Amino acid sequence: MFTIKAEDNKARTAVLNTAHGKVETPNFKAVATKGAVKLITPEDLKEMGAQEIISNAFILFLRPGLEVIEAHHGLHKFMNWDRTIFTDCGGFQVHSLEHDFHLNTTDKGIQFRSPFDGIKHLLTPKKLIEIQERITSDVAMALDHMPLYGCTKKEAIISLKHTHKWMEECKKLHNNPKQLLFGIAQGSVYPDLRKKSVRYIDSLDFDGIAFGGLAIGEPKDKMYDMINISVNNCKKEKPRYVMGIGSPEDILKCIGLGVDTFDSVFPTRNARHGNIFTHNGPVNIENSPYKKDYSKLDQDCNCKVCKKFTKSYMHHLFRTREPLGLRLASYHNLFFIQDMLKQARKAIKNNEFKDFKNNFLKKYKNGTR
Ligand SMILES: [Zn+2]
Repeated sequence: MFTIKAEDNKARTAVLNTAHGKVETPNFKAVATKGAVKLITPEDLKEMGAQEIISNAFILFLRPGLEVIEAHHGLHKFMNWDRTIFTDCGGFQVHSLEHDFHLNTTDKGIQFRSPFDGIKHLLTPKKLIEIQERITSDVAMALDHMPLYGCTKKEAIISLKHTHKWMEECKKLHNNPKQLLFGIAQGSVYPDLRKKSVRYIDSLDFDGIAFGGLAIGEPKDKMYDMINISVNNCKKEKPRYVMGIGSPEDILKCIGLGVDTFDSVFPTRNARHGNIFTHNGPVNIENSPYKKDYSKLDQDCNCKVCKKFTKSYMHHLFRTREPLGLRLASYHNLFFIQDMLKQARKAIKNNEFKDFKNNFLKKYKNGTR
């Protein structure tokens, strides 16, 4: 199911076998919350070498509803993506919508109001497993209770109790040989809780383990501490997934700590704000100097956008609010991440990941403007 091919210190490259093909790790999942990566087609994703995406089970359950997805024989056909699909539990979404829609969390599950029609729903472990089975995702995520950053230790302990209870229930209920099930460890930024949670989730023997509730506003050094503790306290043989990380520097640093897979809206959301990743650091294409910069968008990128368009043209599209700018920038940023991961995998195989990472980040940071 998960075969490690090469190790370079803590970094590793492996193959994850799913019902829709092999995923070479380290890897990144573009986010398709509602069954679409914003502005990007499945053909685009294949062109850039994407092997997996992540969608949101609870949002799809609310709209279009399971009947519609089942009429298409599952999410793959519905969205025309025939590679690996992860679905997550929606805990993060519930929190994002918290002020308006989150009603209550008890040991039974998460109660919320649908953002679409206001109807009350109780998301339980059983419900989530059923939804993900009917959506036919390749990798399902168990239900977790994610505490917000800044929560007290007492609150973090309560969320951990809920999470561990729900993880057990999901594991018992899941009975689909075509679908993998990943557990999620929580624990906020409390080292003892992180350690306890990772060890417990690891003992339940899921197909993979995710470290949740990170990259939600905590200082970077705390985030890396928690990831380090997590990696050091789980089995080597299972895939490790940090949820919500998507900047080039965070991805490379986490690979160095032993993380295998990532997902985040960071590349596409930044793109829509004109923030373009380049090998010389991120640039905001709306800034005035780019009006007359006739060079390629990124000198070292081979994507179709960089081959064909100048910074000046991209600047013009953003300044005139032409939607094409958003699409081209999203394509480039996702390609940039996919290409970086391809190089990272190669570097691990050649036992030169540390040099690759340091050289990449040196250039990336020096050029930041
Ligand atoms: Zn490019």
